[in-house]
Amino acid sequence: MRRFLRSIWPATLAIAFCGGVAAQQSPAPSPPAAAAPAQPGPPPFATTKVEGTDNVYIFRYGFHQSMFVVTPEGVIATDPIGYQRPQAVRTYLDEIRKVTNAPIRYLVYSHHHYDHAAGGKPFKDAGAIIIAHRNAKEHLTRLADPDVLVPDEVVDDKRTLTLGGTELELIYVGKNHSDNSLVMRLPKERIIFTVDFMPVGAVHFRNMLDSWVPDIEESIKRVIALDWDRNIPGHPAPGGRLGTRQDAETILRYTQDLSAEVKQAAAQGKCWDTAMREVKLPQYAGLADYERYLAGNVERYCSHWARGY
Ligand SMILES: [Zn+2]
Repeated sequence: MRRFLRSIWPATLAIAFCGGVAAQQSPAPSPPAAAAPAQPGPPPFATTKVEGTDNVYIFRYGFHQSMFVVTPEGVIATDPIGYQRPQAVRTYLDEIRKVTNAPIRYLVYSHHHYDHAAGGKPFKDAGAIIIAHRNAKEHLTRLADPDVLVPDEVVDDKRTLTLGGTELELIYVGKNHSDNSLVMRLPKERIIFTVDFMPVGAVHFRNMLDSWVPDIEESIKRVIALDWDRNIPGHPAPGGRLGTRQDAETILRYTQDLSAEVKQAAAQGKCWDTAMREVKLPQYAGLADYERYLAGNVERYCSHWARGY
C-alpha cells in the first residue's frame, strides 16, 4: 500500500476508510532550509468524466471515490464520502454544479459504512431521495449517527432507477464486506460501481472487519456473472485506473487461495498468530497492500476456519 500510496498520494495524506483510519502517515518533519522543494502530491480532489460516456463522472476526494450520473431530468449521485470532512460534500456538490444545474434527484449509498455514507444532508436539502439496501437502513437507524442520514427508500434484491433516458441498476449480490452492499450497474455504458468488497489491484482491507466469509466469494462471483466491462472502485486503484474483469477474477482467486491456505493452517492448529506470521501468497505480492494487510486477511479467515465465526 505504501508503495502504491506514494505513487499517487502525498505522504502526509490521511487515508481514512472502512470504519477507521487505515493509514495516518506521520507528517514529515519541516525540511531544512536548503532542502529541495517537496514533490507536489495529487490534488485533494478531482472530477473525471469516464472516457467513452456522455454523462458518467467519478468524483474523488482524498482516497474515496463516488460515481455520479447526469441526465437532462436530474442527477443520480452516490456516496457522499463526507465522514468528518463536510468540505468534501460541499466540494462534491460544487463539482456537480460545474457540470449541470439539473436537480439532484437521488443519492444512493453503496453500503452503510460511515466513510462512504456520511455527510448526505446537503444532498437531501437539495431535494435528493436517499436510497440504500434494506439492511443499511436497519444499521443506520440503530446507530443513529446524526451525520449519517437514514435512507428514505430501500432496495431488497434489485431496483432500477430510470432518469432522463439513463438506467441505473441497484443490485444486491449478497453478504460480502458488509451485509448491505449495492452494486450499481449502467447497462448501456457497461460500467459498474463497486465499493470495498472487491478491491481493484489490492488485497482486502485490514482484517476484513465486518466482512462475511466465505459469502464474499459468492458475491464476487455474482458480480463477475453480470454484464460489464469497467468497474469504478470506491477507492482509487493504483494509478487511478478503472477495474477490469481480470481484476475481478484476480481478487476472487486471491480470496479463494487465501481461504484454502488458512483452512490448512487452521487444521494444523496454527490460528491465529502462527498462521498470521507464516501464511504467504507470493503469487499475489504485486497487489497493493499485500505486505501491509495479508496478516489481517489471514486473521479473518482464521476466525472462520478455526472458530466458525
Ligand atoms: Zn466499507
